[in-house]
Amino acid sequence: MSEKYDVVVIGSGPAGYVAAIRAAQLGLKTACIEKDTHEDGKVQLGGTCLNVGCIPSKALLDSSYKYHEAAEGLGVHGINVKGAELDIPAMQARKQKIVDQLTGGIGGLFKTNGVTSLTGTGKVLANHQVELTTPDGSVEVLDADNIIIATGSLPIEIPPAPCDHEYIVDSTGALMFEEAPKRLGVIGAGVIGLELGSVWNRCGSEVVMLEALDDFLQMMDHQIAKEAKKIFTRQGLDIRMGCRVTNAEVKNKQVEVTYTNADGEATEKFDKLIVCVGRRPQTESVLSADCGVTMDERGFIFVNDYCETEAPNIYAVGDIVRGPMLAHKGSEEGVMVAERIAGKHAQMNYDTIPNVIYTHPEIASVGKTEQELKADGIEYKAGAFPFAASGRALAANDSDGMVKMLACTETDRILGCHVVGPSAADLVQQVVIAMEFGSSAEDLQLTVFGHPTLSEAVHEAALAVDGHAIHIANRKKRPS
Ligand code: FAD
Ligand code: AMP
Repeated sequence: MSEKYDVVVIGSGPAGYVAAIRAAQLGLKTACIEKDTHEDGKVQLGGTCLNVGCIPSKALLDSSYKYHEAAEGLGVHGINVKGAELDIPAMQARKQKIVDQLTGGIGGLFKTNGVTSLTGTGKVLANHQVELTTPDGSVEVLDADNIIIATGSLPIEIPPAPCDHEYIVDSTGALMFEEAPKRLGVIGAGVIGLELGSVWNRCGSEVVMLEALDDFLQMMDHQIAKEAKKIFTRQGLDIRMGCRVTNAEVKNKQVEVTYTNADGEATEKFDKLIVCVGRRPQTESVLSADCGVTMDERGFIFVNDYCETEAPNIYAVGDIVRGPMLAHKGSEEGVMVAERIAGKHAQMNYDTIPNVIYTHPEIASVGKTEQELKADGIEYKAGAFPFAASGRALAANDSDGMVKMLACTETDRILGCHVVGPSAADLVQQVVIAMEFGSSAEDLQLTVFGHPTLSEAVHEAALAVDGHAIHIANRKKRPS
């Protein structure tokens, strides 16, 4: 007889493993299936995020920033570092140690919480069954009252630039370089392209980014994106907008890239090329034809606001469903689904999901952008505060960028906050909490902020919404 579970989760990325842990915490008999294995055959938990995404990229971003500071950024503090040297294999080894620690930690959390970890490829069958094909090829069928699909995403490959995984690589390959390429091309100036371009730029590569769109970071608030582009260009990233790559070929250990822009066709030669043109859901072969779960033409599984698919008791969470491809979005969906299976009335607020780009300075945002409010015809008030006027940012010699706050003219409710600047992710998180509690701009205005902190810039931006920021000249004055 096949094993019977209350919940079977397919995929152990941040959406799947979090769903499994929460389900087990709630007393449900839970198994989590993962197909990836280490060289020794042991299961490799954690998905994209822990193995080839959020965590390794942040490890390299932090290491490369420290090197860059040591080599070029400390003189202003009166600290002269002579001959700062970069040991990239050591930097990579540190990254791997962190990845191993965290992925191993999930195994420990599974044990502590009583989640059964199963190694193999999962497939959803009809009648609440899951087929598990183990690495040795044997097949087992599990009975599951509830199934949570969390199979995540993979880098998109484009026909003009097929990855050979040596000279033309995807984001995974770009996390593994053992030396900084002299000349590095990046296709796509999106979130991942900017983070990886920044890592290797700091390590000494000459970086050229080719982006098909005309508007830089078009999903971000345009004012913030414009400011960020200025900063990145000053840092040495050669960001070329309106450039669509049409061909990439490896010739004599170099990649020759052809692209078209408003002036016609051009070519560039690079030592390595990173293809960062987005990610696609990993749904092929996880669904049997008769399981009742449906997908759109791009492979995203159809779900409602509660991550319920069209088949009863089958849920889908994370990168394989609509919405931003972000680890924390998937994790919260996983928690919501586990709780609903356990009979709780959990729901998720999709309006307050923070979005971060971990460049330096960081770019972070929550809620509506100014252009979205205009398009929706919503009357709003905007306030901004530059870090150049922040005592804490100046003390840290880290004063590029600004905080921008948007609030509803009629209700004063905060509608969005957009930051480019030091610790932008943590500053925006303060506003995420405020928005979650339905705060008005006035609530933030009346909140006491410690001095001197970067958070004061959030306070000042909230004050600027009504024209009474203290430490900058206000555009509009309003008695209140
Ligand atoms: P995944 O993490 O992709 O996990 C899915 C898992 O399912 C994988 O382990 C896969 O092997 C397994 N699987 C697939 N099919 C099957 C099957 N049939 N049977 C068994 N197992 C299966 N997001 C952020 O929020 N912050 C960041 O800073 C950030 N940085 C990133 C940097 C990079 C370079 C990349 C590539 C991504 C980054 N992301 C970041 C995005 C983030 O990694 C994803 O949004 C997140 O990992 C999605 O989680 P998931 O659980 O849906 O899927
Ligand atoms: P993101 O989705 O944030 O990872 O960004 C991927 C970026 O790659 C998008 O801004 C796309 O416009 C860009 N892109 C996709 N295809 C091409 C191409 N052929 N040439 C240049 N840029 C591209």
